[in-house]
Amino acid sequence: LVARMREFGTTIFAEMSALALRTGSINLGQGFPDTDGPAAMLERAVSAIREGSNQYPPGPGVPELRRAVSEHRKDHYGLDYDPDGEILVTVGATEAIAATILALCEPGDEVIAFEPYYDSYAAAVALAGAVLRPVTLRPVEGRFTFDPAELRAAAGPRTRAVLVNSPHNPTGTVFTRAELDEIAQLCLERDLVAVTDEVYEHLTFDGVEHVPVATLPGMRERTVMISSAGKTFSVTGWKTGWICAPPELVRAAQTVKQFLTFTAAAPWQLAVAHGLRHELDWVSSLRADLESKRDRLTAGLSAAGFEVYRPAGTYFVQTDIRPLGFTDGLALTRELPSLAGVVAIPTQVFYARPERGSHFVRFAFCKRDEVIDEAVGRLAGLG
Ligand code: PMP
Ligand code: GLN
Repeated sequence: LVARMREFGTTIFAEMSALALRTGSINLGQGFPDTDGPAAMLERAVSAIREGSNQYPPGPGVPELRRAVSEHRKDHYGLDYDPDGEILVTVGATEAIAATILALCEPGDEVIAFEPYYDSYAAAVALAGAVLRPVTLRPVEGRFTFDPAELRAAAGPRTRAVLVNSPHNPTGTVFTRAELDEIAQLCLERDLVAVTDEVYEHLTFDGVEHVPVATLPGMRERTVMISSAGKTFSVTGWKTGWICAPPELVRAAQTVKQFLTFTAAAPWQLAVAHGLRHELDWVSSLRADLESKRDRLTAGLSAAGFEVYRPAGTYFVQTDIRPLGFTDGLALTRELPSLAGVVAIPTQVFYARPERGSHFVRFAFCKRDEVIDEAVGRLAGLG
């Protein structure tokens, strides 16, 4: 294995899901729902296969999906993206992020990302031979946010891009317009590209609104907007994502994407096009369900003695384990199956500087109510 990838080993999601299986624990680690997406959308995938959508689709993606993404961007955010030239379908958001970073960064270039960050960011930056400049999100009055001065200090002459994930995994923060303005100002002043990971765009609670960076003044022209179907439609195994960006940025990402995967699987693309066009009411009820599951899990974890950060979006709850007398989240999550029969994610693995997050543990609530209740019951004896 090349030196620049050696530190990455096995992802925490693979490690923790294997631990859950091995120990028969409840898996509140890896974020995937335990119920299926909208039935008609699942049927559309089946009919797509039966009708013969089984050969290579065009490299940029099936036209029907590109048109559905374009309409969705217009309807929800008032953003115009041309389905021919400004939209690229990818194998999940993960490939979109990797292709974009590989397309933008020369070796030695720098990418700013907010830590804790989704684990693929650091790996994509390392694959490009680039350098990740972390800006730490810290709790302020129960919500994770950043210090604008720290953000500005992270930008240097080699900075090429800022990776922005909102709603944010794993903290549950949904960046406010004011926070996004700080990021946009920096991009405009320093001529940076904003690479936005919006896979939780529909999963916000309490009426909190998701604001795409591309809607801020001057930003559409320098934003690579990324999303995917996995979280919106509870089909994380379909790995269907997309990039919306100005033509030259899409061309750059597509040049790389051609040689990563060439194209993405056809049947899911047709089904996701159906989802974006016809299943947004289903998504609204998913959002309402998740809001009540969030309340269920946060109440249970608080009662068990965790300090809980109530998320405004995503399907994760960030907790501080110190009130329970623990200090090392990695050690605790490895012990948690034997202590309580539950699996969670140690947030420290999402930090460039793990010591900044060693006391945080993340729990997923995209699970049936009885699963959440059983997990909470088991955790009640922990303290
Ligand atoms: N970004 C974030 C913040 C995520 O939590 C995930 C995990 N679903 C991804 C990207 C990857 O998305 P996909 O499965 O579409 O590749
Ligand atoms: N996005 C999910 C999470 O954060 C899972 C991603 C994965 O398994 N790679 O838990």
